[in-house]
Amino acid sequence: MGVLENLVEQDPEFAEAKFRSKVENEFVQIKLSMVTGKTERIKHYVSDEIYNRIVAKVEDDKANNRIQLYDELNVYSVQITSINELEDCFTIEVNLCSRALEYYIDRDTRKYLSGNNQSRVEKNNRLLFRKKKNAKGFNGVQKCPSCGASMDINENGKCKFCGSIFTLENYDWTIVSMDI
Ligand SMILES: [Zn+2]
Repeated sequence: MGVLENLVEQDPEFAEAKFRSKVENEFVQIKLSMVTGKTERIKHYVSDEIYNRIVAKVEDDKANNRIQLYDELNVYSVQITSINELEDCFTIEVNLCSRALEYYIDRDTRKYLSGNNQSRVEKNNRLLFRKKKNAKGFNGVQKCPSCGASMDINENGKCKFCGSIFTLENYDWTIVSMDI
């Protein structure tokens, strides 16, 4: 039996098209969070290590009084390049091809600083996703695990009431490797 068959057997909800659209959506939201600085919105998509690097990038831009923009960001393709089964988890490696106008503006004046705001740059992004074999799935987790308030984990990983960060790692695929 192949690795994909093993994955589907243990995770009947897995569907490649659904997974690829999830990857695309999360990638765009992560990039936008670097523009807006609202990184807590994407914290639940990524490992702590990746999250710390995203925050460091935003802080570095702030310290340099600039904002990174990804105008006209578009994902052109999402390809699964490998699926691996480890003892306690599955990993999926993805190549995501995106194009955007990547440039910096001044935080105060909003004027152009550097980068390419004329033509979109194509990038191949390697992303690695991991899902624990004992992940609980989303059924019944429409409520904050800390205070019980209802929350939409797809929209925001932070509880509006108690501020708890929802740890996606216990439920679904998490990004464990990504170029920031
Ligand atoms: Zn809560």
